[in-house]
Amino acid sequence: MKSKGAVYLVGAGPGDAGLLTLRGAELLARAEVVIYDQLVNPDLLRLAPQAELIHRGKGMTMPQEDITALILAKAREGKTVVRLKGGDPYIFGRGGEEAEALAAAKIHFEVVPGVSSVVAAPNYAGIPLTHREHCSSFTVFTGHAEAAETKTDLRYEQIAKIPGTKVVLMGMERLAEWTRSLIAHGMAADTPVAVVEQGTTGRQRSVAGTLATIAALVAEKKIAPPALTILGGVVTLRGKLNWFESRPLFGQRIVVTRTRTQASELSRQLAERGADVLEIPTIKTVPPTNLAPIADALIELNSYDWLVFTSPTGVTKFFEIFFRGFDDMRDIGGVRIAAVGPATAAKLKEFHLKVNVMPEEFIGVKIAAAMNKYESVENLKICLLRAEVATPELPQALEALGGIVDDIPCYQTVPETEDRTGAAARLVEAGADWITFTSGSTVENFHARFDLPALLKKFPQTKLASIGPETSKALAALGLKPAVEAKAHTIEGLVAALEKSAA
Ligand code: SAH
Repeated sequence: MKSKGAVYLVGAGPGDAGLLTLRGAELLARAEVVIYDQLVNPDLLRLAPQAELIHRGKGMTMPQEDITALILAKAREGKTVVRLKGGDPYIFGRGGEEAEALAAAKIHFEVVPGVSSVVAAPNYAGIPLTHREHCSSFTVFTGHAEAAETKTDLRYEQIAKIPGTKVVLMGMERLAEWTRSLIAHGMAADTPVAVVEQGTTGRQRSVAGTLATIAALVAEKKIAPPALTILGGVVTLRGKLNWFESRPLFGQRIVVTRTRTQASELSRQLAERGADVLEIPTIKTVPPTNLAPIADALIELNSYDWLVFTSPTGVTKFFEIFFRGFDDMRDIGGVRIAAVGPATAAKLKEFHLKVNVMPEEFIGVKIAAAMNKYESVENLKICLLRAEVATPELPQALEALGGIVDDIPCYQTVPETEDRTGAAARLVEAGADWITFTSGSTVENFHARFDLPALLKKFPQTKLASIGPETSKALAALGLKPAVEAKAHTIEGLVAALEKSAA
């Protein structure tokens, strides 16, 4: 019999996916149902690919009683439920009420703390909440007045008297009102104040002024929730400590288009430089239409002089198939190995295979000359392990040098249509600063999904970044030219090109 259900109230952290706890990640990996809020970074849902996802978000706002009822119902079905809440579950998130309902229903529950926006958003705006030279305490309160609350003004009278840093959550709607009220009750009008919108995310914005000026600044910049306000001398430290907003790609919304599994490295590097990354897989890899050629190649693998890999995916897919037939690496024989570039070579290294040849320029067709320089390829048997649809230039170049070439499809790419994180929807709604392309096929597949020229017409500020000439060629076929093309045709090269362009 299935064990009884359990509910984990998990703090998702303030926005930056990296601020989820290890315990939270472990529970997401195990969850059968994930019920998440608007404040939760949807990228975290990637950690729960197996789970049923229930979103309580924009346009589908569910009253608290309904959410609680839903959590109870799922738990009673025997499910492992992760209730994912922004920041820390117990800080202004009504997590306490949900836990009370679970306790009353005698359902097993645990609460996993999260990094609250209270501490994280000020940090990411360059503001430490305490500092010996400024204060020895901090106070957190909500600027949101409950409809029934009539003593608001009294509350501000008390707050105005508390020394130390103050952090105000949910204070945007009535910002003008409560800042005025604090001044009226004796707080210095020139108290430094900062507001941080969407803190810790790639969309973070912050403004700083004083208690007297902040409301006008926020209105001018159209700062909107979720945002919090910090009051106190510590705000002046942000000139020195604003590490997050000074990163090279901060504020740039960059689309990463790769396969579902490959995108992460580029995304990680861009996010680490402060970009707001929209990871939109447009392709996924599946087995080739016809498996006979690779089956034949595996049988006569020992007869080849060279194995040639032109992508990391080619390496992964080839060995997936190889190890289905063999369980000893020595069965690849005494062949030499060529790789198109460092990412492919790195993937081979994971299998403890060294590359004999890699061209100086990481372009498929350049492998031929590089191999021929290593040793004449005349009459040598060469096995190309590539995608099903690939340019004929490389085999032609090898044949022109006298090589005997078998062009073996190891995988094919097909369109990805799912949008689990909502990134595709965000792109179509709001556009982006950059769309990155890392291969000709990503261009074609992105175009198939979004109609690239039409998208650029709708968002004229959106620029294209290409990893190299082959990718740019695919853009040219659509009548488009990338604003930047990477000098080194690698992920690092592409990131460097974007950084240079943003500088
Ligand atoms: N439990 C959450 C807070 C929920 S109340 C936590 O611990 O962070 C919602 C309020 O939190 C918002 O109105 C806003 O004031 C603040 N908030 C949440 N996430 C935020 C973020 N990323 N940046 C700035 N403020 C945020």
